Amino acid sequence: MRKNIVAGNWKMNLSYQEGLSLFSEVVNMVKDEIRGNQQIVICSPFIHLQSLVQLAGKGNKVSIGAQNCHQEEKGAFTGEISANQILSTGAKYVILGHSERRAYFAESNELLAKKVDAALSAGLQIIFCVGETREERESNQYKKVIKTQLEEGIFHLSSTNFSHVILAYEPVWAIGTGLTASPEQAQEVHAYIREILAEQFNQQVADDTSILYGGSCNPQNAATLFGQKDIDGGLIGGASLKSRDFVEIVKVLE
Ligand code: PEP
Repeated sequence: MRKNIVAGNWKMNLSYQEGLSLFSEVVNMVKDEIRGNQQIVICSPFIHLQSLVQLAGKGNKVSIGAQNCHQEEKGAFTGEISANQILSTGAKYVILGHSERRAYFAESNELLAKKVDAALSAGLQIIFCVGETREERESNQYKKVIKTQLEEGIFHLSSTNFSHVILAYEPVWAIGTGLTASPEQAQEVHAYIREILAEQFNQQVADDTSILYGGSCNPQNAATLFGQKDIDGGLIGGASLKSRDFVEIVKVLE
């Protein structure tokens, strides 16, 4: 059975101290809210990872993730971080394919496929993002774009390895813009992704994969979005930087 998940993406925000203090607030507020089939993940900048893992403690339902990793195991890649290094902090997740990485750091589907392999070899769980731009939606190309992102970025995995993957549908035009996909628009894409998963793998994989919605999700719109049949929670950017907003979103999870 798939999990219902809320993951926060702090992006390049918060000093070391601010991150620890926000995380402590979140953990205190959510610790009695999380039920068996739910998972909360905080994806922080690299500088916070190890301390957040320690603050979360063993058995805590709040897990920690990074927002990127390099595709190579190690070596002369100044300024980069490997999947093994992330794992060595105790973090368990990594976001790959975020539209900001695709757009600002020219991360292609081909490169992402290598990062996916590196993350899985290290033993990380992957939150893999797909989503169309405004032009691609307006020209009715969005399904094709999303299918290609999946086919070229992550469909080389076996169904066993794919069980370590969470997908996030994040329409680029909705990220950080205050514009949200309507529940119907989001549900349509989530159902479509599940359909492709069934074709690529089988119905069991399609039913077991959590698909999160991301794009200006907030405490006001989370309930209607998460209430859609194929939406299993959210990847939250801006609202994850305010403990109260983030926890309100967590409370909406079924
Ligand atoms: C994100 O960065 O993944 C995201 C969904 O951002 P926001 O919630 O701010 O739109």
